[in-house]
Amino acid sequence: MTVTAPLFPLFADLRDRTVLVVGGGVVAERKVEALLHAGALPRVGSPQLTRTLHAWLESGRIRWLDGAYHDGWLDEAWLVIAATGDAEVNRQVYEAATARRILANVVDQAELCSFHSPAVVRRGLLQVAISSGGGAPMLARHVRRQLEVLLDGSLGSLAALLDRQREAIRARFPDLGQRRGFLEKLLAGPLPRLLRQQLHADRADAFLHRLLEDGEHGPAAGSVVLVGAGPGDPGLVTLNALRAMNEADVILHDRLVSAEVLDLARRDATRIEVGKSAGRHSMGQDQIHALMLEHARAGRRVVRLKGGDPFVFGRGGEELEFLRRHGIPFEVVPGITAAVACAAYAGIPLTHREHARSLRLVTAHCKDSLDKLDWASLAQPDQTLAVYMGVAGLEQVRERLLLAGMPPGLAFALVENGSRPQQRVITGTLATLPETARHHQLQSPALLVLGEVAALAGQLHWFGQPPLHGPQQFDNPRVPTLPRAA
Ligand code: SAH
Repeated sequence: MTVTAPLFPLFADLRDRTVLVVGGGVVAERKVEALLHAGALPRVGSPQLTRTLHAWLESGRIRWLDGAYHDGWLDEAWLVIAATGDAEVNRQVYEAATARRILANVVDQAELCSFHSPAVVRRGLLQVAISSGGGAPMLARHVRRQLEVLLDGSLGSLAALLDRQREAIRARFPDLGQRRGFLEKLLAGPLPRLLRQQLHADRADAFLHRLLEDGEHGPAAGSVVLVGAGPGDPGLVTLNALRAMNEADVILHDRLVSAEVLDLARRDATRIEVGKSAGRHSMGQDQIHALMLEHARAGRRVVRLKGGDPFVFGRGGEELEFLRRHGIPFEVVPGITAAVACAAYAGIPLTHREHARSLRLVTAHCKDSLDKLDWASLAQPDQTLAVYMGVAGLEQVRERLLLAGMPPGLAFALVENGSRPQQRVITGTLATLPETARHHQLQSPALLVLGEVAALAGQLHWFGQPPLHGPQQFDNPRVPTLPRAA
């Protein structure tokens, strides 16, 4: 049967109402579970029950009609679902139900359904039901997956709060237009953010009451979400990051954030590059702070989007301190940091029972940061170093590590543009680190991994091109003679 009209959408109140489920297998069990969730009284008709159905029977949640189907089972039923796997019985159920004007659903047989069960996205009381009219259930499931990503878990708490406070809101705004205006402002304001931050139910109620008393919200409150965009592969963006980018009015992003990731953001969000890259500061930190403040104070939802993770060499801490000083509310969404991503995409386990028992994230982007590092501890064996922003400082890194006693034969891997289509991995030993990098004209962004685990890239690489090496003469290097430490 071709469906020529769309189905009529309907949310049924089945609390304490009898629903007949014919069949006692796993499909029937799934249907019964959904019915129990809605507070219905399922009656299950079948010669056998699954173990779970038995358990529900024992705890009194369902009733059992033992034996073969007969039309008497339909007595008292508001709805019937047939899931027997026997086409003849299914048809019989459908026809008998239809004769009695009871809505019936035969699982996976659209032509034997007077109601369909939609694909559902649930957030507590809030439910989105999707139907393709029975003609394209895969499409409905596809859309459901998209919505699962989009709809935040805290919507459930929001729905519950509005349900609890329905009468109070009505009493305060008897006029529908006013009520609508209030609710729209409420949803655009800080409440959804507070609920995402696990605001306790009592406090959410109190918050709403205050707004109801004041009647007005005052100026729209802006906020900032500090979001980690990961290393470049858009697949490594978290769901929370995606949601924040979807809600943003303004996105202040670093240069390190890839175009593919920016493409995921809301189309009409204003994008501002506030990028910094080693050695090329296009906008000072103060200017970035000022921009965040300006947009947040104008009531906008600002996303401050950073490469990798905002709290790993991202100055995220300073930005939050600034926002806190100025009373701007904020949230933080972590991202996959370069060390974690580059290692994974190069086939380098950062820890390994035979090679490394600890991991250190260090930065070596200027002389000052080099001077401040404790090289003696960095040169210790049995650990992995992940060095950020080290492209220009490789000579220095080698010299100081050799001086501190790191073996010249220790393996390194340089991961350039990690996780991106143009990723390159360059491997070798510490003794010829800068020469090898120069030989391959290493570009930024690149991450240096030092430690025995780096050699595993040779066997475990799986993404992009296999690792590159230095030319032959680098394999037997003349280790530079170094001045003795005083
Ligand atoms: N907050 C970021 C780091 C910013 S510092 C994070 O957590 O990843 C910038 C340095 O990160 C770069 O110089 C480089 O060393 C490293 N980096 C960031 N993305 C990278 C990538 N895709 N490939 C290699 N290195 C990367």
